Parts: sequence; C-alpha cells; structure tokens
Amino acid sequence: MFKLNIQPGFAAAMPADQDQTNNRRQVKNAAFSYCNPKHFDHPFLIHTSTEAAQLIGLGDDNTRDNYFLELFSGQSVYPGTRPYAMAYAGHQFGHWAGQLGDGRAINLFEVKTNEGQWTVQLKGAGSTPYSRHADGLAVLRSSIREHLCSEAMHHLGVPTTRSLCLIGTSERVIRDMFYDGHPAPEPGAILCRLSPTFIRFGSFEIFAAQKDEENLKKLMDYTIRSFFPEVKADTDNRYLDFFQEVCARTIDLVTEWKRVGFVHGVMNTDNMSITGLTLDYGPYGWIDNYDEDWTPNTTDAQHRRYRFGTQDQIALWNLYQLANAIFPCIGDAAALQDILDKTEEAIGQKYYTMMARKLGLNFIDKDVALHIDSLRQLLQHSHGDMTIFFRTLSYFGNIDVRPESTEMKQLMESAFYGKNSDEMETKWQDWFAGYQKLIHADARPAYLRQKTMQSENPRYVLRNYMAQMAINKAYEDDYTLMEELYEMLKNPYSDQPKYDHWYAKRPDWALDHPGSSMLSCSS
Ligand code: AMP
Ligand code: MG
Repeated sequence: MFKLNIQPGFAAAMPADQDQTNNRRQVKNAAFSYCNPKHFDHPFLIHTSTEAAQLIGLGDDNTRDNYFLELFSGQSVYPGTRPYAMAYAGHQFGHWAGQLGDGRAINLFEVKTNEGQWTVQLKGAGSTPYSRHADGLAVLRSSIREHLCSEAMHHLGVPTTRSLCLIGTSERVIRDMFYDGHPAPEPGAILCRLSPTFIRFGSFEIFAAQKDEENLKKLMDYTIRSFFPEVKADTDNRYLDFFQEVCARTIDLVTEWKRVGFVHGVMNTDNMSITGLTLDYGPYGWIDNYDEDWTPNTTDAQHRRYRFGTQDQIALWNLYQLANAIFPCIGDAAALQDILDKTEEAIGQKYYTMMARKLGLNFIDKDVALHIDSLRQLLQHSHGDMTIFFRTLSYFGNIDVRPESTEMKQLMESAFYGKNSDEMETKWQDWFAGYQKLIHADARPAYLRQKTMQSENPRYVLRNYMAQMAINKAYEDDYTLMEELYEMLKNPYSDQPKYDHWYAKRPDWALDHPGSSMLSCSS
C-alpha cells in the first residue's frame, strides 16, 4: 500500500445529489452523485504511464504494487475518500441534448503534489445515475486509443487530460461496432485518467437549463479559484475575465490541434474542457493526406460538422453556448458579445502565427499569409501527407527549387499520395520559389529555422492505422506493439532511427480498413 496526498476538491466545494442510490435519473440542483465502481473478479494491469504516475506522486515501485491495480480498477476505495460521478448537460452535434453526465466515468479523489492538483477518474468502471440507457462500460479498443493518444498529445505539447493506466476487466462488453445491427462481445477495459478537473462547458449548461443561478455562480467561483490563477477572484469583473480566458485557452487548443493534424471528432459541448484541455478521445483521428474536410467520425460523415479545418469555428460556436449558459450571472450581453467578437478575430491571428512557425518564419505579413493559404490549397489538391510534408520541409536549409532539383523531387515523392499533374508541379515550383524568398526575408540562420520547424512539426504521430494495428495485436493478448507506439510517441520531435518504419505515409490497405480510416462512436 502507498500513501497519496488526498485533497478536498470538487465534491467538497459543490452540492451533492441527495439521492444516494445508483438508479438512473434526472439530477436537479446538484453537481455530482456519489456512486461506487463495479466489482470485477479479475482485473489486470495492461499498461501504466510512469510519467503520469509521477504526477500524483507514484514511483515505479508503487505502480508495481498490487494495491495500484486494486485502487485504479476501483476495487478498493482509498481511505477517507468517496467516489462520485459528475452532472453535466450538453449540445451534441449542434442540438441541445439535456442532461448527460458521467455515464461511465467515476471520479475517485483529488491528489495534490508538486506537479499540481489532479482529479483521478476511472472510465468504464460501471454504471452511474447518469448512464441513461447504456452500460457504463468501455471496450479495450477505445481505451487503448485514449490511453495512447492522451500521452502522445502531452508529449507533443498539446494541452490534454492524461492517462495513468489501462486495465483489462476480463469481462466481455457487447458493442455494435459498425452500428449495423451486429452486436458482438469484446474485451472490456478501464482507463484511469488524470486531469486538474473534468469540468466541461456542459457542467455550466446544466445549471443554466435548471435556472439554478446559485449553483452556476458557485461553480464559476470554484473554477476560477482553482484553475484560473490569472483571473482575480474577488473582483466584480471576474466572470467576464473568466470567460475571456476560457475563450483564449479554447482557441489556443484548437490551433494546436491544427498544428499537429489532430481531429477531435466529437466537439460537443459536453466534451469541451473548461480549462482548455483535449478531453474525451472518442472517434478522433489524425490527418494523413491533408484534407480540411476530413472527419474521422462516421456518425458525422454526412454533415462533417467536426471536420479538421473548421474546428476553430466549432469551438467558437461552443463558446457561444457557454456564453448563453453563464449570461444570467453576468447580465451584460454586450460585454460577452465583445469577447466573442474579439475571439473570432483572434482565430485567424493565432492560426497564421502557428502556420508561420510551422514554415520556420518568424514574421507575418500579407505575403506570408498568402503563402500559407496557397499551401493549404496545394496540399489539399495534391494529397500531401501533412506530417511528412512539414517535417521534410524542415530538413532543407535552402530549398533548391529548380525543376531538375533532387531536393524538390525527394520532397514531392516522399510526401504525396499519388503523382502530381504537370500543372500542379508548376504550381508547387512557384510556391517553393516564393517560400525561398520569404526565408531570405526572415534572415535567420538556417540552423535556427530548422530548430523551430522541428519543434513545431512532429516526426511521429499516432496515425489511425497505427493505433488499429496495436489494437489488433492486443486482441490477441499481445501488447508489444502498443508499448512500442507508447515509447516512440514520448519523443515525437526527435529523429528515432529504430522507429523509422513509422515515419511513413499511411499504407494503402489502411484507407478503407475499419478503425484505420473512420470510426463510429461505439466505444
Ligand atoms: P461521449 O460521446 O463518449 O462523450 O459520451 C456522451 C455521453 O454518453 C456522456 O454522458 C457519457 O457518459 C455517455 N456514455 C457514453 N458511453 C456510455 C456507456 N457505455 N455507458 C453509459 N454512458 C455512456
Ligand atoms: Mg464525453
């Protein structure tokens, strides 16, 4: 057994649901409901992120302790703590969905260390009052995807919830993976996630829907005090300052997603972290061939609401829903509108600044912006691989753009899916010629430019087919591929020769392979 530095947190600050049963229900005027994780006869530890364990003060010895498995599979309750599920509502795919809540997530406790305060949460450990029609469980495949991707995102420098460990339940869970009327049993799993908080936009929306201003205020004050040190907690302006900061963090986050080629896939307001972290890895995906219209989510295939290129606009739409929710405590629509207008303006500025850094340019002017726009179009039409294109670009100090140049050819061949037409090649040559001029205008030594570019443009990301290959192996009880990807993704910006088979375009077989291109929400 080991000791954790348990702190009072959300449950101590917010009102509990008075009903103590586990019955599924509508919960009124409460932020959470106490509930217990399900009993599993034979849970087993599949993988631990030792980096995440350190965040809550646990070393390697602790993670090997049998108590680690007992505690983080929910089979033992840590002394003096009481697990609970959080209430929240949300807008799903643009429509008000009413009460949702933690249907299969259970918060165990909060721990404080030198690394901050962490809420420890199990996902897939059984039903709660918010489970509605579903079972409260999770399958191994989606849990592997979340475990690998949360840790990979952290190492990419993208704000995210963390994944402490992945646990098998030794029980089967029935899922209709393709939503085609063929449910089948699959291995079940529990993921143990860490985050300073799991409060979402939807946590505010539920109180607004209930016209419960008292709790809305309480939640905002708790959130500001605990997670927004930059907001002065004792001023009249605090709610507006808070909203402004949420807007800034949210747009920063989606800009980061665009930098690394990540598509969240389900940007419903219940999946939007109030602190600006990537939250809830469902049918997310990574861009292979650059396509701003791509979404990994089969449920969204028709309308493509959550496609790669419009994630910032959707974030803004979600911020409007948050503004509506908190308006009763602010009462100043013009001030909220002003923040939203400025946020909309900032989307473009943040985007072009990020793209300029990807191109190794230290300045932005009209010419740079035009070059970024034309690059997007060229990549889209040429089916350029996002990761390989930008990473390869960083290896050239000065690109030789003459048509016979081997550097140009190498870049083209390594990064494109298919061959460009002569017309496209000419367009690319023009683009490179312009780019070279911009590089000269930048006037930084090549090695410095390369350094920036290599810290902005990852060499290794968790492409969909890679996660799917790890899942296929795991379903044969072989977790070695999962471990290999986990290790590699700890250093996404470094050249790692032993992993270079992963620095490659998506193989053809993966284009239409289940799980390797698009995914359903089934998890
Ligand atoms: P998601 O799309 O995964 O963010 O989930 C949306 C809502 O459905 C949340 O309230 C989840 O807690 C709930 N939910 C998803 N899967 C399950 C499940 N297997 N059992 C209970 N609730 C679930
Ligand atoms: Mg969710």
